[in-house]
Amino acid sequence: MKRGRTLLMIPGPTMCDSEVLRSLSKPTLSHVSSKFIEIFSETLKGLKKVFLTEKGEMFIVAGSGTLAMEMAIVNTCETGDNVLILSNGYFGERFKEICERYQLNVDYIEVKQWGENIHPETVKEKLEKKDYKAVTLTHVDTSTSVSAPVKEIGEIVKDTDAIFIVDGVCATAGEEERMDEWHIDVLFTASQKAIGVPPGLAIIAFSQKALEIYQKRKEPVKSYFMDIGLWKPIMDAYLEGRPAYFATPPVNMIYALHESVKQILKEGMEERFKRHKIIAKAFREALKTLELKIVPVSEEYAASTVTGIYYPQGVTDEEFRKNMVENGVIVAGGLGKLKGKIFRVGHMGTVQPSDILATIAAIENSLIKCGYKVEPGSGLEAAQELFTKHRI
Ligand SMILES: *Cc1c(COP(=O)(O)O)cnc(C)c1O
Repeated sequence: MKRGRTLLMIPGPTMCDSEVLRSLSKPTLSHVSSKFIEIFSETLKGLKKVFLTEKGEMFIVAGSGTLAMEMAIVNTCETGDNVLILSNGYFGERFKEICERYQLNVDYIEVKQWGENIHPETVKEKLEKKDYKAVTLTHVDTSTSVSAPVKEIGEIVKDTDAIFIVDGVCATAGEEERMDEWHIDVLFTASQKAIGVPPGLAIIAFSQKALEIYQKRKEPVKSYFMDIGLWKPIMDAYLEGRPAYFATPPVNMIYALHESVKQILKEGMEERFKRHKIIAKAFREALKTLELKIVPVSEEYAASTVTGIYYPQGVTDEEFRKNMVENGVIVAGGLGKLKGKIFRVGHMGTVQPSDILATIAAIENSLIKCGYKVEPGSGLEAAQELFTKHRI
């Protein structure tokens, strides 16, 4: 059956609100017009509330999450600097590749098996033995759906000279995350994940400690476009209501971000964290009932924004996901070493309980078609029970 409407339940890009999409089609303004300056300024100020930072400085640049990763590194680190990379999956590996490209001296701590988590104790031991310029951590590694102990590691890094760089691409505005309170020095995300805007924007904030490190650089930043020294006067000008130009901002994308940030703040960060948490928990309850195993080895580590699920014996990635599409729900396959072994469901941004219920129904139906024994409706019932308990 051909369908006109599908649910996009992947860990980015996520589904966007219709007002957010509509704002994209407004007439393109001059990037130095007073109306656009106002929109940009409100967006920067709103994002600080989303990141839960007062002291951090915000940058919005055309690009994707990977650009933000690179921007975090290239502005704070210089050739030969020691960096400690904490990796719980695919995007931790990407951080290593970026740092090596810039000839940094990389120490790499990786979980033994994907699904496990980084332990703060290990980080503490490392930092006692050696001085680092930066410590990097992926908040939610999208490949494993493990949420790292950002708060605990932040407590450790703050007492050293190192800055704490956190990849929030699959977390910010969904998973509980507090830039100032958790002592994060560089935090970034991309528009297409929990922020709920189409792909195209890198959003990154630097703490005063990180900006001081930038100021003290001996070597110029090895990228022109990514140099925050060139962007800062522009962001400052927008905040002060003055026109300024370095490189043309993607005007219509900023409209969309402006609209989404407005909606995010209307919901409120605490409510938003709670919604994500409950939807994720309800989903896991359904998976348990269906006897499906999640990638995080402990439920304590399970993220609120995405869940990775192992295929049961006999169910293949190709057949399962083909059935899901026929059921009108798009889910993602595995990344890196979990490719073909798991599927991933993104539940972040605009996600509602009814979206996850539709997804669970499609999973039950697809599993049955793949020959896996499921009591139809049993997963749905488990999820509904949790929603009822939380009165949503
Ligand atoms: C998606 C993602 C990225 C990469 O973002 P792109 O926009 O695809 O470049 C980086 N880190 C994490 C944790 C992600 O989920």
